[in-house]
Amino acid sequence: MELLRPSSVAELDGGVVVHGGTEVVPLLREGLLDAEQLVDVRGVVPRGVQDGTIGAGTTLAELETEPATPDALREACRLAASPQLRTMGTIGGNLLQATRCWYWRLDFPCRLHGGDICHAAAGVHREHAIFANDFCASAHPSDPAAALVALGATLRTDAREVPVADLYRLPTPDDRSTTTLAPGELIVELDVPAPEASTYLKAMDRRRWSFPIVGVAAARTGGETRLALSGVAPIPWTIGSEADLDSATPLPGTAYKLDIARALVRRALSAIGG
Ligand SMILES: Cc1cc2nc3c(=O)[nH]c(=O)nc-3n(C[C@H](O)[C@H](O)[C@H](O)COP(=O)(O)OP(=O)(O)OC[C@H]3O[C@@H](n4cnc5c(N)ncnc54)[C@H](O)[C@@H]3O)c2cc1C
Ligand code: SF4
Repeated sequence: MELLRPSSVAELDGGVVVHGGTEVVPLLREGLLDAEQLVDVRGVVPRGVQDGTIGAGTTLAELETEPATPDALREACRLAASPQLRTMGTIGGNLLQATRCWYWRLDFPCRLHGGDICHAAAGVHREHAIFANDFCASAHPSDPAAALVALGATLRTDAREVPVADLYRLPTPDDRSTTTLAPGELIVELDVPAPEASTYLKAMDRRRWSFPIVGVAAARTGGETRLALSGVAPIPWTIGSEADLDSATPLPGTAYKLDIARALVRRALSAIGG
């Protein structure tokens, strides 16, 4: 395998992008990702926070301690992974992490791998989705993604500007991808509007180093309140109010998540005065 270290976007020409490597390296090790060329983008992607703009190479640990980080994003970063992983892992890489569905990670030939069965729906799915789970029942694992969606953040790539919410798409029989990123497209920066108030609450199996069972981000910006959830659908999931939880379609083993989501939504709204 060849490791490339470009120093400008113009030098990029294919290959698998790696930044902190906390996701890419395990996927390579498990044979879930093939790469003839690994492209280390640390010399290309900006790092740091300035006036509401976050370089995609900023680590979760840096966002956790940066005073300008809105509360929802700070909490989402603080509650993610472990200190070691937050020190290496970047916000850009976090938004693109693959599902934690154990069938997918064990390389079962499931729908997300291009097959025609969702093994989780018929099998063990305690950590899986309660919304949009008919094709693939995976639950989106990123805490910061939900926070950024609630905050109304925009993402800048080397090709376009797009709301973070539109970085994601539900997989379909014709396209199993869960993001709208084109091959070779690089996430460069994020613009995060300053909210009047925001918060992120997370239910997890352990108090540390655990993916969200349910995460709820709430933000009030310009008088408008937005809610986005992690761990409940194959992508970060937006709801307008607690009442929208009534339209959930839980699997037998995920029904318990609905009660958690209701409680966290109520608490999050009360925390931001929404
Ligand atoms: C044990 C464990 C526990 C974790 N727990 C949590 C958790 O509780 N909550 C949570 O939110 N996350 C959790 N994570 C995920 C972790 O936060 C991410 O792995 C990390 O943020 C990824 O960043 P990275 O820079 O290491 O990405 P990399 O591994 O370098 O890359 C990840 C993906 O993003 C792509 N990529 C990276 N940067 C760019 C870019 N600028 N443009 C385009 N593509 C890019 C890569 O090609 C790859 O597909 C956990 C991870 C592990 C291993
Ligand atoms: S939930 Fe998605 S990733 Fe998991 S087995 Fe089903 S199709 Fe595959």
